[in-house]
Amino acid sequence: MNWLTNFVRPKLQALVRKTEVPENLWEKCPHCGQMIFHRELEAALRVCTHCGYHMRIGCRLRLRLLFDDGAYQRIELPTGAVDPLKFRDRRRYGERLKEAQARTGEADAIVVAHGRMGGNGVVVAVFNFDFMGGSMGTAVGDGLIAAARLAVLQRAPLIVVSASGGARMQEGILSLMQMPRTIIAIDEVKEAGLPYIAVLTDPTTGGVSASFAMVADIAVAEPGAIIGFAGARVIEETIREKLPEGFQRAEYLLEHGMVDLVTPRAALRDTLIRVVGLLRNPGPPSAVLALPAADAGPIDAQHQHGGSVAD
Ligand SMILES: [Zn+2]
Repeated sequence: MNWLTNFVRPKLQALVRKTEVPENLWEKCPHCGQMIFHRELEAALRVCTHCGYHMRIGCRLRLRLLFDDGAYQRIELPTGAVDPLKFRDRRRYGERLKEAQARTGEADAIVVAHGRMGGNGVVVAVFNFDFMGGSMGTAVGDGLIAAARLAVLQRAPLIVVSASGGARMQEGILSLMQMPRTIIAIDEVKEAGLPYIAVLTDPTTGGVSASFAMVADIAVAEPGAIIGFAGARVIEETIREKLPEGFQRAEYLLEHGMVDLVTPRAALRDTLIRVVGLLRNPGPPSAVLALPAADAGPIDAQHQHGGSVAD
């Protein structure tokens, strides 16, 4: 664009990065505490090679992992989170937004892309947890609506990969309004007869779990992902009871019928391709009945007719 963005910024970023590299050669698994070499960890798609713990991944890596050859087209989203309350806690909301935008290089907590997956066109919306905890404000609502409309326009399935702490409280009631808004967006996809698949990753909580994330045709979760509305500690304090082992984890939700599949990251793409294939191509329902009619005599044709009525 200009001298500042093309020349000065890359130089500055290169300076900052140099100091980061040596420290990050080994990463500690937050679950088992083992050290993993960074290349090994990247090769394992950021899944711990010792205990299988699924670390969070960024939205760009997620998109690369899902699309054929890692190739996809991002769409431009309506810009701008709003700050209707001129909200301020320790810092202004506007400042927090700018800081998150500068750090992640993204406009807000959602990215929408389309491309091919297993040869089929799909629209994928991915939450960016690095951006203010993937919280859902107006911009995220706008993003989901754009994704849903794009899916309808392209007659393509919609896949939403969620990773969110919930509604963005800085936007007050407008953030809560994104819950019905996104539900309506998803309804547009369903009314068009297109599949909607949710991929619930760690964490999917609050207003996101209480809206579009839970109304998918097929809900796939990553192993160990926390999925729930209120935090476990808050629930424990409220009901004054010990919560069961594994509460709000993907596997627990699977056992209780809240998700359909728990799929390791390495198998996620193939699983989604299979699910999309099943939902999009159910196969001709009465192909067997139609076949003999072509060269059948009158009696046979009658049998055929009787058969189809009985069915
Ligand atoms: Zn581990």
